Amino acid sequence: MPELPEVETVARQLAPVLVGRRVLELRILDPRLRVQRPPRLTGRRIEAVERCGKRVLIEFGPAGDPRFLAVHLRMTGRLSWRPDDVAPDPTSRKHLRAQFRLDRGRLLFADARRFGTFAWYPTRAEAEPAGIDPLSPQLDAHRLDLLIDHSVQNVKTWLLRQDRLVGIGNIYASEILHAAGISPQSAIGALDPLQRRRLLAATRRILTRAIRACGTTFSDFEDAYGLSGSYQRYLAVYEREDRPCRRCATPIARVVQGQRSTYHCPGCQR
Ligand SMILES: [Zn+2]
Repeated sequence: MPELPEVETVARQLAPVLVGRRVLELRILDPRLRVQRPPRLTGRRIEAVERCGKRVLIEFGPAGDPRFLAVHLRMTGRLSWRPDDVAPDPTSRKHLRAQFRLDRGRLLFADARRFGTFAWYPTRAEAEPAGIDPLSPQLDAHRLDLLIDHSVQNVKTWLLRQDRLVGIGNIYASEILHAAGISPQSAIGALDPLQRRRLLAATRRILTRAIRACGTTFSDFEDAYGLSGSYQRYLAVYEREDRPCRRCATPIARVVQGQRSTYHCPGCQR
């Protein structure tokens, strides 16, 4: 499942080719994407493409009467842009669920497993997720304390809660805790101020690095150009069970928390 860095990668790659384009026609091929009736888009100009939580948000103008489309990629969803004279690759063609014909090129949404979703909003505020973005400048030590609010949940499970920090999934939660030197079993509310500062700094550092590497690819994630991310090369603990910790050489351990695997180093995460 793509997490924050993978979604950010797709949005950053699509923005330069989509912003300024006008919609000629929207064709929704999969009835599941019609849960909400799409607005009339013909003639509208794409004003922005950005990440909003774990979704790609596309703004269609005009500014006085915009429409926002939030695309959740889920497991296998893929947004890509193709010039008019380039046919979609075979995978996109086979699993195509929606197509935006633009005044230059096409925006395609393909999704083999069909868990991806479209949601339409009249304002950006309504598309905002409940949690705060971990890369937002509004997230500081004080705000983090408010979010933690004496919770006794273990810190790994807490990081996966989308109503606190949005966009962190199983891969980056393990990596962040290793970078911060915090045991995944610690109760989040019991972390002292220094540990909280380390948690916040590690969250920003790991997510920023992963964005720079265009995300992590195991099996499904492909960016807007059908390429894989490269962050898997830098993973310190995720799926490295029994292999030596890169910091202290202790074998990496795997535990199950909330039915999900957590990877950690018993040596340097106490
Ligand atoms: Zn270690």
